[in-house]
Amino acid sequence: MARIIAIANQKGGVGKTTTAVNLGASLATAEKRTLIIDSDPQGNATSALGFPRDPARRTLYQTLILGEPIERVTIDAQIDGLDLIPSDRNLVGATIELVSMENREYRLKEAISGIREKYEYILIDCPPSLDLLAVNALAASDSVLVPIQCEYLALEGVSELLDTLMRLRRTINPSLSVEGILLTMYDDRTTLSKQVAADLRSFFGTQVFDSVIPRNVRLAEAPSHGMPVIFYDIHSKGAESYIQLAKEVISNAQKRVGQGSGSADTGTGTAAPAASAASAGAGGGGSSGGSSSGSHSV
Ligand code: ATP
Ligand code: MG
Repeated sequence: MARIIAIANQKGGVGKTTTAVNLGASLATAEKRTLIIDSDPQGNATSALGFPRDPARRTLYQTLILGEPIERVTIDAQIDGLDLIPSDRNLVGATIELVSMENREYRLKEAISGIREKYEYILIDCPPSLDLLAVNALAASDSVLVPIQCEYLALEGVSELLDTLMRLRRTINPSLSVEGILLTMYDDRTTLSKQVAADLRSFFGTQVFDSVIPRNVRLAEAPSHGMPVIFYDIHSKGAESYIQLAKEVISNAQKRVGQGSGSADTGTGTAAPAASAASAGAGGGGSSGGSSSGSHSV
C-alpha cells in the first residue's frame, strides 16, 4: 500500500515541483512503483515530465470536481514504474468549485483510496498556497515533505506552515506526520546557505533530511527538456542528490516498518526558530547540527 507524501510549502519557488518530479523518478528507478499527482494549476510537474499543455488531456480536475474514476486521468509518465495525474489551468476553478462541495476537504483522499494498492509511493505536488487544493493533498497524505530554500529569510513562513499542519492534524488528518524537511538550492560556497542549514538543523533536528539538494544548473535545465534530471544528466550533482534522497525516504520507510509504526505521530514544536542568524544576515561558518537520520516522525 502506497505511502502518500504531500510536497508542500506555501512559499513559492522553493523546489516543490523539482522535488516531486526528481524524487518520483528516482523512486521509480529504484523499482518502487510511484505516482506523481500534479495538484498545482500551474501544471509544472506535468510539463517537467514532458507533457506540454493540451486542452484535450484529462486532468485531476475531472476526478476532483466531476467525479471521474481516477484511473481515467492517470497516465504513464513514459518512465518505467512512474505514472502521473496531470494538471492544467482548469484546476484554478477547482479551488473555487470545491468550496461549495460536500466533503470538500476529502475529495482527493476518496479518489486515491481505490489506487493506493497499485503503488509504493504517491507524491503530491502542492500549489504554493494553503488553499483547498493543498488541504485536499494534506488530508489525503500520510506525511508531508517540506522543501526549504537555503536563502535569506528562508525560515519565514516555516512556522506558519507548521502551525497549519498542526491545525490539520487536530481537525482533518490526525495521522499526518512530517516526512522530512528538505534543504534545497544549497550553495556550499556561501556562508548564508551554511548558516540557514545550521539553523534549520539546530531547530528541527532529525526532522531535516541528511540529503541536501545543491543549487545545480542541470536541475533547472531538465524541465525544459521534459525529463527528470536522472535522464537528462545522471552524473550531475542534482541527479546524485535526488537519488540520495530517494534512498533516505526508502530507508526511513523500512525503519518505520522495523519499529512497527505505520505513521508515528508525536507532537512537534511549532514556534518560529528564534532570531535566526540567517534572517539577520549574519555570517559565521556554523556547524551543522548533525542529524542522524531517523524516522522523521512528527
Ligand atoms: P511553485 O511554488 O511556483 O510551485 P516550486 O516550489 O514548485 O515553485 P520549483 O518550480 O521546483 O519550485 O523551482 C523553482 C525554480 O527553481 C525552477 O525554475 C527550478 O527549475 C529551479 N530550481 C529548483 N531547484 C533547483 C536547484 N536545486 N538548483 C537550481 N535550480 C533549481
Ligand atoms: Mg511547483
